[in-house]
Amino acid sequence: MEVKRVLLRDYTTLAVGGPAELWQVDHPDELPEATAAPYRVLGNGSNLLVSDAGVSERVIKLAGRFLEGDLAGWVGAGSLLPLWVQEAARQGLSGLEPLLGIPASVGGAVRMNAGTRFGSIADALAEVEYFHQGRLFRKAPEEIGFGYRQSGLPQGAIVTRVRFDLKRAPREVIASRMAAVDAARKRQPKRKSAGCAFKNPDHDAAGRLIDQAGFKGFRVGRAAVSEEHANFIVNLGGATAREIWRLVQAIRAKLPLELEWEVWGVIDP
Ligand SMILES: Cc1cc2nc3c(=O)[nH]c(=O)nc-3n(C[C@H](O)[C@H](O)[C@H](O)COP(=O)(O)OP(=O)(O)OC[C@H]3O[C@@H](n4cnc5c(N)ncnc54)[C@H](O)[C@@H]3O)c2cc1C
Repeated sequence: MEVKRVLLRDYTTLAVGGPAELWQVDHPDELPEATAAPYRVLGNGSNLLVSDAGVSERVIKLAGRFLEGDLAGWVGAGSLLPLWVQEAARQGLSGLEPLLGIPASVGGAVRMNAGTRFGSIADALAEVEYFHQGRLFRKAPEEIGFGYRQSGLPQGAIVTRVRFDLKRAPREVIASRMAAVDAARKRQPKRKSAGCAFKNPDHDAAGRLIDQAGFKGFRVGRAAVSEEHANFIVNLGGATAREIWRLVQAIRAKLPLELEWEVWGVIDP
């Protein structure tokens, strides 16, 4: 286990966020000590808006053994989902294609039930192992319960490993499914972001509503609504959490949209 002071902007895809104490945990045996004080769990930081002032809680990040795995067995929750999407395709295993291009850790993807209109990670899970209140649990996805970008994992649970439920399929079938997902992603901005900023309301697209309200290209400081996709708020370089938050608030003043990102710390006191 390694404990160090870091700037969370170096650990989030939006590249914003102030100081925190990072607890890098290598082995499940270290989790009781790491969770002995208030904590948050950091995956790949691709769905987070973190305060410029940082956070006072410990930030636990899975390292070491949690980065390893094997598609025939358990996969570490700290490992990157895109690696497994590619590895499954290489091995002729189908089920992860809908997740192509999501820059998540496996654990973060499970917590958020990450997915696309082609499917979500919950559809590809056989079993989830998580640490909660000093114990390790193993549950089938039906026992946990998953919904649109959410899971029924208990508050504070740390996903440690998962077993995927993948089916053998001809490589060309897997390749054509991945090509369809990739084509749908091509319209997404390449700049620093945390993916879609707002959840899609029932029967509509947040991006369409934001575009219609005239926000494409709208800026606050170095934060902007992407010209390419209105549901992406991008960091043009050097944006602060406060600027991003002001942009979010400006949109929400006009549209009743729910933020997709998790907000860490106090952004605008
Ligand atoms: C360019 C881009 C494209 C994206 N496209 C998509 C998309 O198509 N579909 C989609 O669903 N999302 C998308 N996202 C958003 C993001 O990738 C997902 O929400 C993802 O699930 C977040 O995973 P993470 O590991 O980065 O988690 P983080 O952002 O680090 O954390 C998110 C949440 O998960 C929790 N968490 C992290 N690890 C664990 C763990 N081991 N155990 C328990 N809880 C944990 C955190 O505490 C936090 O609550 C995109 C993001 C970007 C930047």
